[in-house]
Amino acid sequence: MPAKIRLPLIFVAIFWWGASHGAWAEIVAHDIRIGIHQDKTRFVLDLSAPVRFQIFALADPYRIVMDLPDIQWEVPPAAARRDGGLIAGLRYGQYQPGNARVVLDLKGPGIVVNSFIVPASDGQGPRVVLDIRKVSRQAFMKTLRAPPKQAVRPAAPPRRPKPKRQPTHKPLVMIDPGHGGVDPGAIGISGVFEKRVTLRMGRQIRKAITAMGRQRARLTRTRDTFIPLRQRVAMARAAGADLFISIHADSIANRNVRGGGIYTLSENASDKESAALAAKENRADLIAGLNLKGHDDEVTSILIVLTQRETMNYSAQFATELVPHLRKLIHMRRKPHRFAGFVVLKAPDVPSVLIELGYLSNRRDERMLTNPRSHAAIAAAIARAVNSYFAAQKS
Ligand SMILES: [Zn+2]
Repeated sequence: MPAKIRLPLIFVAIFWWGASHGAWAEIVAHDIRIGIHQDKTRFVLDLSAPVRFQIFALADPYRIVMDLPDIQWEVPPAAARRDGGLIAGLRYGQYQPGNARVVLDLKGPGIVVNSFIVPASDGQGPRVVLDIRKVSRQAFMKTLRAPPKQAVRPAAPPRRPKPKRQPTHKPLVMIDPGHGGVDPGAIGISGVFEKRVTLRMGRQIRKAITAMGRQRARLTRTRDTFIPLRQRVAMARAAGADLFISIHADSIANRNVRGGGIYTLSENASDKESAALAAKENRADLIAGLNLKGHDDEVTSILIVLTQRETMNYSAQFATELVPHLRKLIHMRRKPHRFAGFVVLKAPDVPSVLIELGYLSNRRDERMLTNPRSHAAIAAAIARAVNSYFAAQKS
């Protein structure tokens, strides 16, 4: 691990144009392009108006992050898959309110040697241009600056899980639509983003639970916005949630693989696939351009809390309840309940499960996951499982 280097960012570029153009939210991004030149890789963002932007770099893996004001993303679906030259992949979307972000994954150390805005001309709108040049690791590390302070709340002392409630108190279910904003999650065979599927599904589940009237339901996000994994956990704990359900849909190179699965927390993954999946989902913060250094200890200390074991048992009970309900609607994997170290399941005192609804890389699963009618049916099944879980706690 390289030593933390705190040097002023050499290539921060701040442009303040377009203040006269009115609300930032009205700025539309039309396309993202990558140009490969002999000595540089050029990144171009086509916009409807000039914007203020800021660039910084992150190491391990090498990334370049561009922060922008609110942007309406109307780029073609293929833009999310563009790469070339020094750029191995990219993501874009809202990072936090008032702040859009583009994250470029680099194939190796590279720095922005030039960044500028080309004003609109000849019927073409303005565009942001970044020229990236390959450098040594040493030169790259010199451009790093301390990341902006993340709003990670200190961990509250754990409570004992309390599924046995007064009859007047309706249990609270926190539903967590996976990914969001700058982190699209998996990308489907027809270009659908996991973050959209999970949000629509999450809303439906909230609706179904509320309609049943026996529990309350809340969402960790109601919009297309990025929320760090630990903050999702913190939200459930702060709200005093009695159950946490994270919603996801995976994607895999083999397009024949399909089926849903339910995961609960364990330090030891039940199999290699589950471990790989957890590692993939846990990358969400990294994908959004968050610097994760210094967070691991907190998680480790949360993990060893004694209440965790009891919480894990409750989580497993809910998973067991879910399987038969979901199996009626979703093609489930052969071993439907598995274990792995998902960060989002690490609340020591809130029973938590993560549902992978299926594979967006499989045509049949994708069709099911983008169909509003199956959303409603799956949501109703989850609501019934939630209800039987809490009913079992009372008896
Ligand atoms: Zn996911």
